Amino acid sequence: MAWKVTVWNEFLHEKTNQKVIEIYPQGIHRAIADGISRHGRFEVRTATLEEPEHGLTEEVLNHTDVLIWWGHRAHHQVEDAIVNRVHQRVLEGMGLIVLHSGHFSKIFKKLMGTSCDLKWREATDKERLWVVDPAHPIAEGLGQYIELPGEEMYGEHFDIPAPDELVFVSWFTGGEVFRSGCTYHRGQGKIFYFRPGHETYPTYHNDEVLKVIANAVEWAAPRRGARPVYGNHKPIEQLP
Ligand code: ZN
Repeated sequence: MAWKVTVWNEFLHEKTNQKVIEIYPQGIHRAIADGISRHGRFEVRTATLEEPEHGLTEEVLNHTDVLIWWGHRAHHQVEDAIVNRVHQRVLEGMGLIVLHSGHFSKIFKKLMGTSCDLKWREATDKERLWVVDPAHPIAEGLGQYIELPGEEMYGEHFDIPAPDELVFVSWFTGGEVFRSGCTYHRGQGKIFYFRPGHETYPTYHNDEVLKVIANAVEWAAPRRGARPVYGNHKPIEQLP
């Protein structure tokens, strides 16, 4: 089954910052969409902030198994009605993969219930993402770590609820560490936060990073299992 994936990107840095334009001439969303398609059979579409309803209409979300989210500068411009719509779909079972600076997005903060704050530094640290859960499906096909020659640093403390599973821990040249691959369940939905991806580095051209995102799509996609039933319920057995 080809999962239906929507890659959402605010798509602003790629129009104004020359360095970012050179790395991602068609936008981060296009790099991710093309990149994950090399690692799996997905039906991928993209959506951006400036499209009507940010490209996340009822129609689009109802036909999305997994939503990937990249945002940074314009979290506050994402309309609450759309955030609520995405939130509802996650609770119903849509997978959500939040990337890098998406830690401060309205949707991630709403799902976590904490500030999601962290330390950061833009100084081209080397990042080594250690796989700390080698049997996890999101780590399938990787070695013991992924090394990125230059990235923005994110450091602990990261103000998130304790993850259900921790798949990666990052080390940075400056000495900090960070929980860089975290899974959560909210309602029927599965959520994966994945740290790397600052816009001025070619991180979403790195094949191992793309492999992780593709693995995460497979992991987060809704399995149509037992349908939950709520509310007043007649007994199944005869009551005494
Ligand atoms: Zn960044």
